[in-house]
Amino acid sequence: MTDFTFLCNECGARYPEDRALYVCPSCTSQQVPGGPTRGVLRVELAEPELPRRWPAPPLSSPDALAAFLPVHGPESFFSFAAGGTPLLPVPRLREALGMPRLFLKDDTRNPSGSTKDRASHLVVAKAIEYGYETVAAASTGNAATALAAAGAAAGIRTVVFVPATAPPAKLVQMASYGATLVPVAGTYDQAFELSVEACARFGWYNRNTALNPFTVEGKKTAALEIARDLAPEAPDVVVVPTGDGVIIAGIAKGFADLVRCGLLPRVPRLVAVQPERSGAIARALRSGAAEITPEPDAGSVADSLTVAAPRNAVMALKDIRASGGCGVLVSEEAILDAIPRLAAATAVFAEPAAAIALAGLEIALAEGLVSRGERVVLLVTGTGLKDVPSAARRVKVPAPVSPTLEAVEAILAG
Ligand SMILES: [Zn+2]
Repeated sequence: MTDFTFLCNECGARYPEDRALYVCPSCTSQQVPGGPTRGVLRVELAEPELPRRWPAPPLSSPDALAAFLPVHGPESFFSFAAGGTPLLPVPRLREALGMPRLFLKDDTRNPSGSTKDRASHLVVAKAIEYGYETVAAASTGNAATALAAAGAAAGIRTVVFVPATAPPAKLVQMASYGATLVPVAGTYDQAFELSVEACARFGWYNRNTALNPFTVEGKKTAALEIARDLAPEAPDVVVVPTGDGVIIAGIAKGFADLVRCGLLPRVPRLVAVQPERSGAIARALRSGAAEITPEPDAGSVADSLTVAAPRNAVMALKDIRASGGCGVLVSEEAILDAIPRLAAATAVFAEPAAAIALAGLEIALAEGLVSRGERVVLLVTGTGLKDVPSAARRVKVPAPVSPTLEAVEAILAG
């Protein structure tokens, strides 16, 4: 059995993992209503447990995952194809941007279409180890969909709390997986609080990001795969779409584990990309503020990144700063423009919250935060099929025509 402890991100206290624990019991007393989660816990593997070389099987295999992840053993992972996504060399985007060492990590290819499947796989595996019968989550959409998918794979009940305004495709997808769907007439932040109360009342395990320590831990597999696929080279920069700050903290954790194992020289610089209309973490990074300022009016076409107070802001700010990274802010127009540009240059169709990575990279280049010769990885976190209406705002689908060559010629003539 793998030996690990929970380590408080703020006060450094350690706790055993023999029972489910969410945040640091000591630091949670500093919790401010509507603020980032205080006392978020990291998962720390015991020193003798750390792998000292790349495991022989691919990291996506259960055996290799178990070597880096806090589970009793490979048998804890039920069959679910999360992770193992390709790192694409994207030659046409390289040429367009003048970046010969650019790569794209295509996480749209996860089972439910987003990076969140990585965390849901681990959280549901832990729920089963702890003996829970139901797992719940609040989410802007993708995390709940991922939980529903993982629950379907494992055969465990899931209850998901989502703003009723989430893109319909996500609501239909999570209901199709068989989750009990609670569409909340309110914000993500309200859905979050409701899910916490419901878990306490009904005895469910809570998968909420920045509350459940295994969400950061599960997402680290994306970093492990990037490092493995680039080895023996190391990435210089990873560009990460950022909402609550959990994916970027997971990426940081994965690289940090590899540095600790002696498998990577350093954590790459992490670029947090946020919408201008939901940008608390990037603003704090740009201003040098110690803490984020919540943005109660946050609202963006990148629905997956829309949060008033990023829950994992404390940990994310610490990790991004430690990496030498930075934050950039992207306008709504630039987010929408990036969807067809990314698709046409790379064949990866992304939702607004994922296509933002391309727009963010271009801003980082223009601001001199990233150099064109660096080895840069764009993390593309969710498929465009989750939000077709947003993508449709930037492309023109011609009106139906009669089946004649004249009609084809008319379309070719524009
Ligand atoms: Zn603490």
